[in-house]
Amino acid sequence: MALTKTEGLVIKKTDFRETSLIVLFYTKDYGKLNLLFKGIKNSPDKFASNLEPFSYNEIIFYKKKNTTLHLASQCDLKDNFSNLREDLDKVSSASSIIELLDTVMPPEDPNRDAFNLALESLKNMSNYPSADKILTIFKIKLLDLVGFKPHLDSCIICQEKIITQARFSISLGGLLCQNCFKNDLKARPIFRGTTATILHIERNSLEDNLRLGINPQIKKELDYILESFLEFHLDKRLKTKKYMLEINQNIKILKNRR
Ligand SMILES: [Zn+2]
Repeated sequence: MALTKTEGLVIKKTDFRETSLIVLFYTKDYGKLNLLFKGIKNSPDKFASNLEPFSYNEIIFYKKKNTTLHLASQCDLKDNFSNLREDLDKVSSASSIIELLDTVMPPEDPNRDAFNLALESLKNMSNYPSADKILTIFKIKLLDLVGFKPHLDSCIICQEKIITQARFSISLGGLLCQNCFKNDLKARPIFRGTTATILHIERNSLEDNLRLGINPQIKKELDYILESFLEFHLDKRLKTKKYMLEINQNIKILKNRR
């Protein structure tokens, strides 16, 4: 067991036995990580504000081998974003950031860019009025970071540059040119401004994107497309993962029977 230090954002906490807690963090160096806080409920004040959802901590823990539950040794609060917690809209946007990390990121698979993006987004939400806009930027950049972004540079079927009207196919994950509309009859027309906004956000830093004006009509379309895109592709991915787990389980059972 090696004593290890990292930084992490709290995703959620669960009671464990009478006196302990299991806290899921999104960490800088290990990605999503489960830590056991033994006996913590005997001293409730000890880590009270540290372990609230999306609190930012420095953590020291024992990294065990062959398990996904590790033992917390120390947890020092770096920021609990108290400004943000006074505003209900901001709390809701911050919670969505944490939920997305939980759903999109695989366990113990480090992605420092994703950690920095989440941390920077939460810090900006504390100081900047439009938490909702930050959440939109976060979603677009996170999809890009996990190699899961919508295909918008050209037609997803024939790769031709799109000159005239385009449609967006949620199920195919990108734009269709007029010649390829038939590949997804459910594809919907999309404003040029919406694709331009997504591409701009992907190519620029969060800081620069905060200065970007997004007109309300485009914002509405953007949110709809991102939401449907995430829902459709994550659902597919989660189901595939579950299916693979079941298959692996069955192979194990068969092997043991031999
Ligand atoms: Zn095409």
